[in-house]
Amino acid sequence: SLTSKLQNAFRHLRGMGKLTEANMADALREVRIALLDADVHYKVARDFLDRVKAKALGQEVIQSVQPGQQVIKIIYDELVALLGTIHADLDLGGNPASILMVGLHGSGKTTTSGKLARLLHKQGRQPLLVAADVYRPAAMDQLETLGRQLGIPTYAPRGEKDVLAIARGALDFARSHNRNVLIFDTAGRLQIDEPLVQELVRLRDLVHPREILLVLDAATGQEAVNVATHFDQALHITGAILTKLDGDARGGAALSFRAVVGKPIKFVGTGEKLDDLEPFHPERMASRILGMGDIVSLVEKAAEAVSLEDARRLEEKLRKGQFTLEDFLQQLRQMRKLGPLENIMKLLPGGDEALQQIDLAQQEKELRRMEAILCAMTPQERRQPHILNASRRFRIARGSGVTVREVNDLLKKFNQMQEMMKKMGRFQKLMARMGGRM
Ligand code: GDP
Ligand code: MG
Repeated sequence: SLTSKLQNAFRHLRGMGKLTEANMADALREVRIALLDADVHYKVARDFLDRVKAKALGQEVIQSVQPGQQVIKIIYDELVALLGTIHADLDLGGNPASILMVGLHGSGKTTTSGKLARLLHKQGRQPLLVAADVYRPAAMDQLETLGRQLGIPTYAPRGEKDVLAIARGALDFARSHNRNVLIFDTAGRLQIDEPLVQELVRLRDLVHPREILLVLDAATGQEAVNVATHFDQALHITGAILTKLDGDARGGAALSFRAVVGKPIKFVGTGEKLDDLEPFHPERMASRILGMGDIVSLVEKAAEAVSLEDARRLEEKLRKGQFTLEDFLQQLRQMRKLGPLENIMKLLPGGDEALQQIDLAQQEKELRRMEAILCAMTPQERRQPHILNASRRFRIARGSGVTVREVNDLLKKFNQMQEMMKKMGRFQKLMARMGGRM
């Protein structure tokens, strides 16, 4: 599998004392073979490795990290970047909003339409499932059954052979029944062909969907890129949903799609059940591709070492009295990236004991409030807190929806924290531990 091949390549990288063009070329060749074996498009694999190599050779050597680990970190970061870095949300603008689900036969359009309807319903939307597959009567039955299971209305005018008539009917139905998101389950083919494209284009031009989502079977490998390119050229898709990731699907489709088509993967299907749909998270996908256990902990170790450098810089700032609210806000945001508060608390000075006594939900609220207050300040105020006079504090309180007293409390806490950190001299250790979880 891709994962075990990458692990082999990484084992070589890990052992390296020093990075040279020669020994890195060996290791990267293995990574390349692994990517190609997973049906990653060859151009994508080539560009990917070029970037990794350029970064690795151009990078300053961090004292505390083995060069090989540093390369693994680079590969991970590049993988995340290739996969799109952030989760891309749905555009649900328009009243009603429309989503066109397109894709080959069997890719999972109908099932995923149901899953998406369920998700949107949970988010407080009023979805309407629209059966726009006029070729197979069974397709309308399938969608209607899903809708009934979910308690979500389905527009399935049996016998209607004109997709545009279905679309008009569905829009009317949505208006009269207060449905604000239409999910069009369209017909598929075994291969994309001109009549299908024409039909989808006409449907698109009538409905003006904000989202045209390509439903892509993760197991289709190299072919996925061709399918995606075809659909994109014909319809200008807005993104993809990668299905059947619960199977033995390799990472190739996910890796290539974003790079070749330039559109985000928005969700992934992870099973046949109706709640097996998850927002697509590039970091998770990168971790999955790299393998969960050994490799990720290595990557984390590398990350820890890298952020030791940050910790040193921060410690220096602190020592010189230059640690500002700006840094504080950054720390707060980093902390939130670490996950649940319970984990974070364990990292804070005295956090272990505090954890026994505190109300976690209350603390979460407190953290959010602190962040809101800090965000209501100007960068200058965060850098030079001493300029925070009464009128500025009043403005910040109003801007963040808290009382002036709460602003004062935060400033007091900040001062205490600075004092405490100076005294305890534990800051570097704290930062290193925090970095290890990022
Ligand atoms: P369509 O022809 O594109 O509408 O595809 P369907 O929605 O009918 O799905 C085809 C098959 O794939 C069905 O048996 C689904 O249960 C299955 N399927 C769809 N999504 C997933 C998924 O994420 N995981 C798994 N394991 N099966 C899926
Ligand atoms: Mg279908």
